[in-house]
Amino acid sequence: MTFRRGTRLDPGQVRDMRGRGGMVAAGGGLGGIIVLVAVLLLGGSPQDAATLTGILDRTTVGNESPNDLSQECQTDVDANSREDCRIIGYVNSVQAYWPTAVEGYTLAPTTFFTDAINTGCGQATSAVGPFYCPNDDSVYIDLGFFDTLETQFGAEGGPFAEAYVIAHEYGHHVQDLLGTLTGQTGDTGAESQSVRIELQADCFAGVWASNAVETGYLNPITPDQVAQALDAAAAVGDDRIQQQTQGGITPDTWTHGSSAERQQWFRTGLDGGDPRDCDTFSADL
Ligand SMILES: [Zn+2]
Repeated sequence: MTFRRGTRLDPGQVRDMRGRGGMVAAGGGLGGIIVLVAVLLLGGSPQDAATLTGILDRTTVGNESPNDLSQECQTDVDANSREDCRIIGYVNSVQAYWPTAVEGYTLAPTTFFTDAINTGCGQATSAVGPFYCPNDDSVYIDLGFFDTLETQFGAEGGPFAEAYVIAHEYGHHVQDLLGTLTGQTGDTGAESQSVRIELQADCFAGVWASNAVETGYLNPITPDQVAQALDAAAAVGDDRIQQQTQGGITPDTWTHGSSAERQQWFRTGLDGGDPRDCDTFSADL
């Protein structure tokens, strides 16, 4: 089992807005978010997302209070048996690690949502995939993405594929605190700032995995679990997705790095367990 016996979860780090329907106005925009995968890869562009919001506008309501997970997600038994509780466990573990490595680390909430959500970065739909919003220091995820990861991106899935996604998003929060997100320019290309930001987040995910047992939440990481994370990292590589969706690879438009690079940087973080190994900005990519 993934979670260590006797683990106490802190569901307060997650805001469960599933089924609560963020208020989404037609044509609503979204800016400044940092996504896990290039938007196009999820079968939509920002414009498509806006189109989708036109539909959602008629079916959703806003300003509802979150669901209460404090009874459902309390212990390792819950985390080992329920997906939502498991994600809470990963959020807790990631946020138990980073204060030991980054002075002044501030806790950032994760919001679960379905379909659409209002954020400090604007209105978002599930089409953009999991993302971090620096304006409200929050991670947002529709847990349905984990199915998409398997069905659309061809990943094998598994709990540690999920852990990789969560840890990657928190990598962006760490970057936000360290100031390395400020260079975000929206540029593209194999050696672009965008790619370097994403690969650093992958490396930070590996650093967490390397230190995860010490957080007290998890049992020792198994080779199978490492394989799940590496498989997920490869599945969201720009070259793999371009090959699948365009039938060819155009590095000039990369924003996240190749499958091999994403795996390599996760591995670098995992092997060294030290965020100082994650200087993707001066590294020769
Ligand atoms: Zn990212």
